[in-house]
Amino acid sequence: MLKRVAIVTGGARGIGLAVSRQLAEEGFCLAIMGTSSEEKVKERLDQLPADKGDIIYIQGSLGDRQDRNRLMETVLERFGRVDVLVNNAGVGPKQRLDILETSEECYDYVMHINLKGTFFLTQAVAKQMIKQKNQMEGQRYNQPMTIIIISSISEYTSSINRGEYCISKAGLGMVTKLFADRLANEGIQVFGIRPGIIRTDMTKTVAEKYDKLIAEGILPMKRWGEPEDIAKAVSVLCSGKMEYCVGQTIDVDGGFHIRRL
Ligand code: NAD
Repeated sequence: MLKRVAIVTGGARGIGLAVSRQLAEEGFCLAIMGTSSEEKVKERLDQLPADKGDIIYIQGSLGDRQDRNRLMETVLERFGRVDVLVNNAGVGPKQRLDILETSEECYDYVMHINLKGTFFLTQAVAKQMIKQKNQMEGQRYNQPMTIIIISSISEYTSSINRGEYCISKAGLGMVTKLFADRLANEGIQVFGIRPGIIRTDMTKTVAEKYDKLIAEGILPMKRWGEPEDIAKAVSVLCSGKMEYCVGQTIDVDGGFHIRRL
């Protein structure tokens, strides 16, 4: 049977690495994009449970059109298709500044990668998936095609010292809806995931703050989220088992989203 092919942006570290590991275990071929050099991520990628040649790494920025084009060209040259896109890569502001102080440069940096990059990579992959579906017309295209957008609890939670991050994630909520709507009848499912407080390099610098908040009960489940918690949700969403669902965003956050009194 043909192996399914997944693109995972930011798939060599943190949440993305756990997603890559999960999909490799399930037999996917992987195209992983990230900003680090191949040399830097090689050891980690070598440890993924995949056959040699089933994983390619593309160094580049999601925010750069040429890098996105190169990613698509490389994937198609190597694997000839894309079945799953996990839009995981994302950045926080280089400096956490109050919204009264933050600069246009900080704002543009975050929005460019998180929102514009994700939108246009999703557009490119969606077009490729539609092409695949049309090529298979007549024969039943039996591999589920799924696009997942990793947003955040910041999609709806105000953090006034990283407003640009929150705005980018709120925008991703609409990107999920738009593509879900546009692609529903093309046989492509689009879903979002809102991770909560997840233990990765991104949260390392504020780990003490979150330790305290979790101990004080900010989450109904009194523990940090782990990257594997997100990876398992990705696995379910791209399994094809939720056939009549489209456009949902799943909270993987230990219950953070529940309003409590
Ligand atoms: P991380 O900083 O550990 O990893 C981010 C990954 O994205 C890295 O592999 C990096 O190479 C890649 N990346 C960064 N800029 C890129 C660019 N311009 N082009 C391509 N790749 C780029 O972060 P993480 O904690 O694993 O977060 C992954 C995603 O989950 C992000 O979108 C983040 O916003 C989201 N998220 C994280 C948390 C959390 O608590 N860690 C919570 C909610 C949402």
